[in-house]
Order: sequence, then C-alpha cells, then structure tokens
Amino acid sequence: MSNQKAKINNPKSLFLNNVGQLVTANEDEVQCIKNTSVLIENGQVVSIGEGYSNHSIDCGGKMVTSGFVDSHTHPVYYNKRDEEYAMRLAGASYEEIAEKGGGIISSVEGVRHASKEVLIEKVSDRMDRFITFGTTTIEAKSGYGLDTESELKSLDVIETVNQTHVIDMVPTFMGGHAFPIEYEDDHEAYIDLICDEMIPAVSDQGIAVFNDVFCEKGYFSVEQSRKILEVGTKHGLKSRLHADEFVDSGAAKLAGEVAAFSADHLMAVSEAGIANLAENNIVATLLPGTTFFLGKTSYAPARKLIDAGISVALATDFNPGSSHIQSMPFIITLACMHMGMTVEEAYQSATYNGAKALGLEGEIGSIDVGKKADLILWDLDSLLDIPYHVSNHSIQKVIKNGEVVFGA
Ligand SMILES: [Zn+2]
Repeated sequence: MSNQKAKINNPKSLFLNNVGQLVTANEDEVQCIKNTSVLIENGQVVSIGEGYSNHSIDCGGKMVTSGFVDSHTHPVYYNKRDEEYAMRLAGASYEEIAEKGGGIISSVEGVRHASKEVLIEKVSDRMDRFITFGTTTIEAKSGYGLDTESELKSLDVIETVNQTHVIDMVPTFMGGHAFPIEYEDDHEAYIDLICDEMIPAVSDQGIAVFNDVFCEKGYFSVEQSRKILEVGTKHGLKSRLHADEFVDSGAAKLAGEVAAFSADHLMAVSEAGIANLAENNIVATLLPGTTFFLGKTSYAPARKLIDAGISVALATDFNPGSSHIQSMPFIITLACMHMGMTVEEAYQSATYNGAKALGLEGEIGSIDVGKKADLILWDLDSLLDIPYHVSNHSIQKVIKNGEVVFGA
C-alpha cells in the first residue's frame, strides 16, 4: 500500500454527491441526513447539502459516516503471541498464562531487542490495516519496553509512523503497563524508575500526550498508579488509566481524583465507581473485543454507565495478547450484541466519544463544517447494516483529511 502522507497528491477539493444517508454524532445525539452531499476543501468539511468540485465521487445512494476514532491500542510490539491463544483455546486463563511468563512480559524481550526500523515497519503495516477498517485516528501506547531506552524507542516509533502514515496517531506513554522481570522482587524500585527517570525523559522527548497505568490487582495498586499519574501531570502528561478490568480495585474512583480523560475496561466497576465517573465527567472507554478474545462473558456494564449519564467510548484494545482485533465495525457488533447498546449509541461511542476520550472532539469525530474530513463511504444503507453484516468487509472508501486513502 502507499499509505504515505508525503506520497499522496489528491485534489484540494472533493465533492461527495448522491449520499443516501449521512450519519454523524455529537455530544447528545446521532443525526441521519438523507439524500445529501459533502464538500471538502483543504482537508476540511466546508459544506453539507450543497457545493461543487471538479473532483467528485458518486456515492451511489449509500451511507457516509465519520471515520472511526480508536482511542485505546497497544500497537508497538515485535512478536505475535499465538501460542498464548492456543493455550487459552485449551482452557488456560489470561491470569494463568501471565503466571507462566506469558502475557505482557512476554512481549518485552521482543521490543527491547528490535531495532527502531523493524518496529516502524511493523507498526506501519498495522496502521495500513486499521485504515482499511475505517479507523482514521488512533491512540497508540508504548508499554512493551519497560525500561527507559525501550519506552523512548517505542514512542519514537509511534511519532515516526505518525509523521509518515496517513493515519493520525495520539501517543501515550505506558511505562506502568507491567513490572519487568528485573523488578519482580522490588516493585517500589520500578515505580521510582518510572517517576524519577522515565517520565522526565518522556517529557523531554516531547512526543507522548498521555500517561496511562494498568491499575489492577496483580499489576499497579491504586497508590502506585496515583503516584505515576501525578508525577506525569507535573511533567505535562495527561492522565488515562486501565481501570477495574478483572476486579474492582477502586481505579474508577482514582480516575476522578486525578482528573483522567478516560477510564478504560471497567468490566468489574462498582456502583460507587460509576457514580464517581459520572460526577467527574470522565469518559468510560469500553473494550468488548478483549472480553470476546479472552473467551469471557462478563462484558462491561455499558447500559448502567450510559444511564448514569457517562459518555461511553468504544475501542479495540488492539494488542498481541488479549485482543488481536483491529476492526471497529466488529467492536460495534459486540457492543450491540453483548452490551445492550443501540447501534446509534455504539456509533457515537466509536466516533465522537472516542474523540472526546482523547480531548479531540473539537477537531474530529463528527461530520461538521470546519472539522477534519475523515469519512467512510460504505457499501451499506444504514447504521444497522454494520452489525447485521458482521462478517462482511463493507467499506468502499476511506477518506482521511479530505483524501481517498483506501478504495481509490
Ligand atoms: Zn489496554
């Protein structure tokens, strides 16, 4: 594929006509505009329902939506972990596999030994595939290096791919992903390394926007997570966290205390945790692909969260162990079938609320005049067709910054 920002030489303006249904979400609702058109100039939507350009696409009466915003992924890894998948198929749990040296830790050696060039190639290939599924902006975490040099390298890889690939990437530092083997018996020393060395170095490097911690039993405690996030804040990094995935550890409450942009996973969140997220206006990012890929049935309580007035985002949690899933359309299917979300809610969660989880809802996540022209032309008629055609690849074209980057 030639998904290189520099290589694209598309027209400055583009007119999408004969749009059967234009679907866009904002904070409060999902709007479906019938029989319309979209005019794009210099990468932005400039008008809806009128306009003209020498460069036009006949959408054939099909649906156009926003590009997806995947607000939680771990794409910087070297080796696949299909042997763990085989172990799970044979009955082992994620926790059992981690105890045997699998899980996050088994990706660390690969990242530490891989050259930056090799990782760039791998991450870039992964981004090619994300684009084909309609993802136009993606959050990307480090966190498989777990030493200062390898974490900086991982962030550098994200930045390099972001500069050259058509997709937009939002970099997150995640030194607090797991305890590396060399600190197995001295967790506090690793917390010190993150706080005293890694975070200042990440801040100096100037790439990462967010700081994320796996706040979970067996990983980072609430107190350790709080320390890492507070030190990050002092160094200009915004907070987000992996919260209450396997057990209720009080992480949702911590999200409120550190003013996190998002609390993610929440399969085991308590009533008090839900109340806290609502009170502090924190986005709840749900990752049903992880529940599905781990062969579990305890999906996050999306209905309770939505009914409490919380903005729910959906993301893939793409990673080599617990969610080897890149398709946001498939995540929408899971949300509708297993979490009681309506297709409109799932769509809003995969676009506008994903942008909100990254603090980018003013620029992306909806089809509005002045926002980035990140769009998907589907071979489908309506939103309901997305989960209904679960196994089809129903995307005709993906438009990023006003340029056709897939299905040209
Ligand atoms: Zn994650």
